[in-house]
Amino acid sequence: MLTLLTSIWLVALPNIPLWRQLAQLPEVTGLRGLLFGLGLAFGIAGLTHALLSLLNWRWLLKPVLTLFLMSAASGAYFMWSYGIVIDATMIVNVAQTDPREAADLLNWRLLLSLGVLGVLPAWWLWRQPVRPVGFLRQLGTNALSLLGSVVVLVLSLLLIYQDFASVMRNHTQLRYLINPLNSFYAVGRVVAQPLERDNSKVEPIGLDARLALPPDTPPATVIVVVGETARAGNFGINGYERDTTPRLARESLVSLRNVWSCGTSTAASLPCMFSHLGKEGHEKRSSNFESLVDVLHRAGLGVLWIDNQSGCKGVCARVPNTNTAALKVSPHCDGGECHDEVMLDKLEQRIAELPAERRAKGVVVFMHQMGSHGPAYHKRVPAAFKRFTPECASNALQECERQQVVNAYDNTIAYTDHFLAETIGWLKKQKGAGAMVYVADHGESLGENNLYLHGLPYAIAPDVQKRVPWITWTSPAFEQQRGLRKACLQDKQMAQISHDHYFHSVLGITGVRSAEYKTELDIYGSCM
Ligand SMILES: [Zn+2]
Repeated sequence: MLTLLTSIWLVALPNIPLWRQLAQLPEVTGLRGLLFGLGLAFGIAGLTHALLSLLNWRWLLKPVLTLFLMSAASGAYFMWSYGIVIDATMIVNVAQTDPREAADLLNWRLLLSLGVLGVLPAWWLWRQPVRPVGFLRQLGTNALSLLGSVVVLVLSLLLIYQDFASVMRNHTQLRYLINPLNSFYAVGRVVAQPLERDNSKVEPIGLDARLALPPDTPPATVIVVVGETARAGNFGINGYERDTTPRLARESLVSLRNVWSCGTSTAASLPCMFSHLGKEGHEKRSSNFESLVDVLHRAGLGVLWIDNQSGCKGVCARVPNTNTAALKVSPHCDGGECHDEVMLDKLEQRIAELPAERRAKGVVVFMHQMGSHGPAYHKRVPAAFKRFTPECASNALQECERQQVVNAYDNTIAYTDHFLAETIGWLKKQKGAGAMVYVADHGESLGENNLYLHGLPYAIAPDVQKRVPWITWTSPAFEQQRGLRKACLQDKQMAQISHDHYFHSVLGITGVRSAEYKTELDIYGSCM
């Protein structure tokens, strides 16, 4: 009885995000649509109950049901509020979330959903007595209830088979909404991954890496800014109707407008950008490899990774790195968070700590921004930079009017404009040649079609989650030294470029060559 009631509860309430999406499909209408929905509900109930029948043992039952209820409650909240779906990548995102990011998501709506959909039924459940029965009898009961569930599952799917096959094929995102089985399936996929790939080893790359510049070339400083959650279309310099980038607009730089990300989340994009394999090769890889950062280091350059976020997802593990997110530097740090400008603080000193023989060859500093990380956009920006008001000051984005969400987001882009301009300003003050490359990891949804944040499976994610800015600034000394023709780069403004070009282009602009380098993927190579 408990497994049956739980199954019905799960199908009815925590699956509301699924029912909402289903109701919005143009092909699911009228009586036939209603019957389809009912059939699907019975099918999901049958499947859920079949699983629970296998786990129906005296000491196991209540913890298992509680796990189902709580997973379903949290899944329902995030799917409902932000329009996300739950797949293996989303589980990796959850596993890599740090306490600060988690706190950004906390609000009373989340607690209320967990309470009503999870804690309340679980509390009722734990008060119900479970009569002990012998092992054989329990086995018999479970077998019967499994059989019954499978019959319900098969019958309901048979009745709606025609519609079921076409709807599921045309709207693959629906399968990621079946709650809480989506979470369990995704966790299973993540757990099974190490079986396909040995994650304990990191294969070296770039063993032949070397600086391929004339020997008398003076050392240059290249700052590579790794952007966060920046959508290309919200940059004024990319044609956005709002002037979100007044300072960058005054610099002589090249901004590419047709750049596509590798993934739709940091955990997916960041390792992929820094891989020599490109999107397809990286996703199919049978072992893990070192990153772009290792190749630059191996070429003898002074390499430093500064992280103002939750970490570099392993790509900077073998070079000098530092995290600024928890520093207490005035005026950049406030309320347990540091704004991105903190990464420019004491930068000269941090570089001076790198080995002198490496600095003599050149310096590459990676700066990993907090950028436009949501949903608490308002926390990313110092008060003085909030130019677009009123802004949404809640992390429950759906509580705000859409324009307020866009305002809060655009303020983060305006602050990134300031941060990048300050970085360029810092480079101009150094003696010697300098360059800055800024590329973001993925974009963001800002309420279009009720979608918020990012992380949808790539195939179904809207373009705003996949189109990212790629901005290059070079000092006149750098252009002269490397023979870089800016007009040539400018010609690539609308060319289709992706994160697949990132590894090779950063090697290109830093003058490093190795066996992994591919000329055709270096956007700077053909312009030098
Ligand atoms: Zn990200």
